[in-house]
Amino acid sequence: KLRINELGKSFQKDGQITEVLKPVNLQIEKGKFVSVLGPSGCGKSTLFNIIAGLTTPTSGDVLVDGQSILNKSGQVGYMLQKDLLLPWRTIIQNVILGLELKGIKKKEAIAEALPLLERYGLKGFENHFPSELSGGMRQRAALLRTFLYDADIMLLDEPFAALDAQTKGQMQSWLLKMWADVEKTILFVTHDIDEAIFLSDTIYVLSARPGSVKAVLEVDLKRPRQREDL
Ligand code: ATP
Ligand code: MG
Repeated sequence: KLRINELGKSFQKDGQITEVLKPVNLQIEKGKFVSVLGPSGCGKSTLFNIIAGLTTPTSGDVLVDGQSILNKSGQVGYMLQKDLLLPWRTIIQNVILGLELKGIKKKEAIAEALPLLERYGLKGFENHFPSELSGGMRQRAALLRTFLYDADIMLLDEPFAALDAQTKGQMQSWLLKMWADVEKTILFVTHDIDEAIFLSDTIYVLSARPGSVKAVLEVDLKRPRQREDL
């Protein structure tokens, strides 16, 4: 269980202190798919950065099963909103980055990653550089890297923004498949309410700056989780 407890964040900008997150409280059961919605600038990426340990909060704590994870690294997998792939590494080198960070030997990491690249439409692009791929392919590779990192909690910050409707639909189905395979907790930022409803168990809506939880929507779980045409 993931608990975000009275999490607040202020930034100092031009000598002024701006509050970005008003104390935010969230409780997420293990294995759930949770979306976070809210206007641009309300602090969604800041919230994810704090959970991932990249930003220190001004107040509050992030707990997994009652233990703080704020000063521990490697607890969550994170697909950033931008700067997805390292441009000087090939696709396969990018995808196995998380596995290498965990100390898995390169050869084994590649053996684990190759079938996934094939399954997710990147066969033949292993040795290409990110700049040689389309935006959608880069997003797919970044998603695979996050999945291969294999943390119990995954943060995905607008992973499918700027994709055409068809590719987006495919990526959503792949994501649901991957999620169903592995029983991970997913936190997902999107500006697309339809996408949030399609994917999530619960939707948290943050209010405009400074962000705090404005609404919690429980999505009806009786609807099918997979698209019929897949
Ligand atoms: P979007 O939907 O556009 O991605 P967001 O909800 O993810 O927006 P954040 O990126 O979390 O918004 O930014 C929230 C606010 O915090 C913004 O006003 C931003 O300028 C400010 N901010 C974020 N990081 C920093 C920083 N390192 N220093 C100062 N201000 C920051
Ligand atoms: Mg953001």
